[in-house]
Amino acid sequence: MIKSIVIIGAGLAGATATRYLRAQGYQGKIHLVGEELHVAYDRPSLSKDTLSGKVVEPPAILDPCWYASADIDLHLGVRVTGIDVVNHQVLFESGDILAYDRLLLATGARARRMAITGSELAGIHTLRDRADSQALRQALEPGQSLVIVGGGLIGCEVATTAINAGAHVTVLEAGDELLLRVLGRSTGAWCRNELERLGVRVELNAQAAHFEGEGHVHAVVCADGRRIAAGTVLVSIGAEPADELARAAGIACERGVVVDATGASSCPAVFAAGDVAAWPLRSGELRSLETYLNSHMQAETAAAAMLGKSIPALQVPTSWTEIAGHRIQMVGDIEGPGEVVLRGNVENGQPLVQFRVLDGRVEAATAINAPEDFPVATRLVADHIPVSATKLQDASSNLRDFMKAKAERCE
Ligand code: NAD
Repeated sequence: MIKSIVIIGAGLAGATATRYLRAQGYQGKIHLVGEELHVAYDRPSLSKDTLSGKVVEPPAILDPCWYASADIDLHLGVRVTGIDVVNHQVLFESGDILAYDRLLLATGARARRMAITGSELAGIHTLRDRADSQALRQALEPGQSLVIVGGGLIGCEVATTAINAGAHVTVLEAGDELLLRVLGRSTGAWCRNELERLGVRVELNAQAAHFEGEGHVHAVVCADGRRIAAGTVLVSIGAEPADELARAAGIACERGVVVDATGASSCPAVFAAGDVAAWPLRSGELRSLETYLNSHMQAETAAAAMLGKSIPALQVPTSWTEIAGHRIQMVGDIEGPGEVVLRGNVENGQPLVQFRVLDGRVEAATAINAPEDFPVATRLVADHIPVSATKLQDASSNLRDFMKAKAERCE
C-alpha cells in the first residue's frame, strides 16, 4: 500500500505529476518539495513575455489555490540535501526527514556556466528562473548593449525580445550556425537571417575566451581576438541536469537520472521525470530532452508507474519556440538519415514544414508559421504513417489524407 509519495522539484514535472496522482484517485500523502519560493510557473515565458515586461509574473502552471484544495503538502524554499534509498527517506538541510513509499525526482536542470576569466563580474546573467528573468529585464534598457553567449533556444528567443525592447544585441555562437542542436542547419540559417533583419548582430565560430571589466562587465573577448563591447551579458550555453542528489545516493546517472520508459530509475521506488531524467527515446537513444511537452508527458507516465500502472512511453522530442516573430514547432530530430522534403515556402511568406523522411515514413518535422499542419505532422511522426514525398511537398494537398489512408487500410 502506497501511503506517502515525495516529489523533489516543484516545477512543471513535479506539479504535473502531483495533479495526475490526484486525478487518478490517489488519496495518500503527497509531499511536493521545491527550492524556489514559488509554485510551478511557465518557464517558456521567461525569455519572452516576462522578459519584455508584457506580463509581470510568469503564469502559474496550476492555480496556486489548487494545492491546498487537493491536500498537497507543499514545502517551498527548502533544500533537500540527501536521499537515503535504503530507509526510503529524504533528508533536508534543516535536519528534517520525510519518509517515502515512492519518490519522484523532478529537480530539472541548471544553466551551464562559463569558467573563464571575468565570469564573476556584475552584469553577467544566466536565465533559468523568474528571478533571472526579472534581473535581465531590469538590465535591458533601450540603447543597452547586450551580448548573448550561445546562439541556441534561449539565446535566440532573448535576442528577439531584447532587440524589440530597443537594445543593441550581439549573439556569439561557438558553432558555425545558430540553433544547430534543435532546429538543424537550414532552419538555423533562416533564423539567423531573420534575426539579422531585425538588427541583431550574429558572430559565428565565436568562442568567448574572457570577460573584461572592472567590477562590471564591459566587453567579451573571443579566442580569435574579436572584442565586443557589452553593458550586459547573457550566458546561454546549455543546461545541466540537476542529478547530484541521485548520484550521491548511488542511483545510475548519465547526464541525468537514467530511467526506463516508465520513469523508473535503477533504484527501487525511485522515479524521475522532466529535465533531470535521461529517458529512452524512440530513436534508441537515452537522453534528457529539456522540453516542456516531454516533461509533461514524462511526469504523467512516471506518476502512473508510481501507482503501479506501467504505461511505457518512449519519447520523441517535441517543442516550440518563437524567434524573430515566427512560431517554430519541432518534433523528432530533424538532422539525421533520410531525405528532406519541404512543403511551402517561407521566403514567400507562406508557412513551411520541413520533413525528414526515411524509408517512406516521417522521422521528424519542423514547422515555421504552420500551426495548422503541425499537429498532423506530429501524428505522422508518432504513428509512423507511410507517406509519399511527392504528396508531402504538394502544399495544396491535405496532410490529413495520409491519416485517412492509414485508417482505411486498417478497416
Ligand atoms: P541550447 O543547447 O539550446 O543552446 C546552447 C548554444 O550555445 C548552442 O548553440 C551551443 O553551440 C552554444 N555554445 C555552447 N558553448 C558555447 C560557448 N562557449 N560559446 C558560445 N556558444 C556556445 O541551450 P540554451 O539556449 O542555453 O537553453 C538551455 C535549455 O533550455 C535547453 O535545454 C533548451 O532546450 C531549454 N529551452 C528550451 C526552449 C524551448 O523549447 N523553446 C526555450 C528556451 C530554453
